[in-house]
Amino acid sequence: MTTYRTRHGGTLRSEDIGREVQLAGWVARRRDHGGVAFMDLRDASGIVQVVVNPEKAPASPEVLRSLRSEFCISVTGMVRARPEGTTNPDMATGEVEVAVAGLDVLSPAEVLPFQLDDRFDADEARRLKYRYLDLRRERMAANLRARSTAIRAMRHVLDDREFLEVETPTLVVSTPEGARDMLVPSRLRPGQFYALPQSPQLFKQLLMVAGVERYYQIARCYRDEDFRSDRQVEFTQLDLEGSFWDQDDVLDTLEAIASGVVKDVRDIEISRPIPRMTYDDALAMYGTDKPDVRFGMEIRKLDNIFAQSEFRAFTGTLADGGTVRGFNAGPQELSRAGFDKLTEDARELGAKGLIWMVVEDDGSVRSPVAKFLSDEELAGVVAALDAASGDTLLIVADEFRTAVTGLGQLRLDLGQPGNHDELEFLFIVDFPVFEPTADGGLAPAHHPFTAPLDVDEMRNSPETAVSRSYDMVLNGAELGSGSVRIHDPEVQGQVFEILGISKEQAEARFGWFMEALRYGTPPHAGFAIGVDRFVSILQNEQNIREVMPFPKTQTGADPLTGAPGRVEEEQLEELGVDVRPEVKAAWLEPPGNA
Ligand code: ASP
Repeated sequence: MTTYRTRHGGTLRSEDIGREVQLAGWVARRRDHGGVAFMDLRDASGIVQVVVNPEKAPASPEVLRSLRSEFCISVTGMVRARPEGTTNPDMATGEVEVAVAGLDVLSPAEVLPFQLDDRFDADEARRLKYRYLDLRRERMAANLRARSTAIRAMRHVLDDREFLEVETPTLVVSTPEGARDMLVPSRLRPGQFYALPQSPQLFKQLLMVAGVERYYQIARCYRDEDFRSDRQVEFTQLDLEGSFWDQDDVLDTLEAIASGVVKDVRDIEISRPIPRMTYDDALAMYGTDKPDVRFGMEIRKLDNIFAQSEFRAFTGTLADGGTVRGFNAGPQELSRAGFDKLTEDARELGAKGLIWMVVEDDGSVRSPVAKFLSDEELAGVVAALDAASGDTLLIVADEFRTAVTGLGQLRLDLGQPGNHDELEFLFIVDFPVFEPTADGGLAPAHHPFTAPLDVDEMRNSPETAVSRSYDMVLNGAELGSGSVRIHDPEVQGQVFEILGISKEQAEARFGWFMEALRYGTPPHAGFAIGVDRFVSILQNEQNIREVMPFPKTQTGADPLTGAPGRVEEEQLEELGVDVRPEVKAAWLEPPGNA
């Protein structure tokens, strides 16, 4: 096969017994028994046991003695059956071993900074500092393979549909997509800055103006956000766009991609069609725009039941324009302390309180508020929440959004999503165009290039106007977003106006883009899928860092290379950039504080 090997060790099976082979790889594990060394030899295909009997192998005793974990070696020898009672059914190569006749050390390894054992996780900063060792672990190697398989499947689906893969620049101008831009100073134009793209949004729209019609790209995107556990400053999107397209065309393409990727990575079929849910329904039933629908526990409206109630907490809320909502959490068997904890959680989530009920075996309802409620009211709740004996019911009376988001979070806590391993895709449609900002203005709910469902509605009541944007959700995580775009420069101008960007400002910042829209722009629509998150869910990883080859830490640093780093004075001079004195002064402090 190559100078170094005739076979991949992980592919040896009982059919190979009696064959002479040459293998190359790393010593994954070594055990010595009666002077004989048993080693697991690992290469990209897997692991096979090799046996070195010093009496039969020409390897010098010193070499054999020095061999430690992660030495890179090559061996020649004969494949033989493992002796009775020593086969390992958990290993693909568990029936065979290789009796080593010759052994070469290709490259020794220093003592490892941590054990490369999938059963133990070293501290993450260490894993990242020695990522090249961390990636040798089977779990991480499997994640890299899954990522490659997923991307190959995406390309396959899109190539079949005659999409063109087009690259767009990574040194661009700052655009308003919601996050802070990462900036790159320009040497040829000192004092000026490129931005790294938050996404290829405007370029892919320009490609539609350019007549490309079907575009995709595996695109690196950059957002200078404060880190959350599942965010990185740089991440990868499958970005796509189509001309003469409407929402259904996008969702149909996404469904084909989801199905192709899951088939290739997990070897299962997803259920199709992927269900669609409006944003309003998602919020009302699950308290979030990314519902986890692997388990029920939908939130229901209980206003009618309590319209005439004697219970002030309910009628007062209803009179103030609030609502009473609840869900059936199923059999939970919580103690009094457990309910107190839930009530505290609900308060932390912003709700005024939480009311719990348990349906007893005789059908009666146990609850701290049972004495304030009539039999009809209690029976009404039991019926509305389809409750049976043993079920726990949770109810919040509050302003709509507070009630449903609080219950939605309790639903997630009690539904134990970690115990479900099915894959439930969902499209959320009909998002609002805008969302309120803290200072009383409006911001785009998706981005400002998203088309409203109805232009007049957007002009007359922007706060409630519905957009033509949609999200793809998998198991309660947002996999990506997209929209039908504005292709009329007039409407684009109106959106900027509603966002408080004046004509002059819009012209100065996006004149180049608005001008392009004036040259016969086709109606178009698109989407972007977060590749890292998609792969992490398919691999049952909690964090996207586990499926990124070289991720950054929570503070945006790379412990392996030391990025971000300081640069020479001359470099700064050429760029016309100066580091502020107080920042430089902080550099003089001990490294930990730098
Ligand atoms: N560019 C958008 C984003 O990154 C996706 C899209 O609308 O296509 O969220």
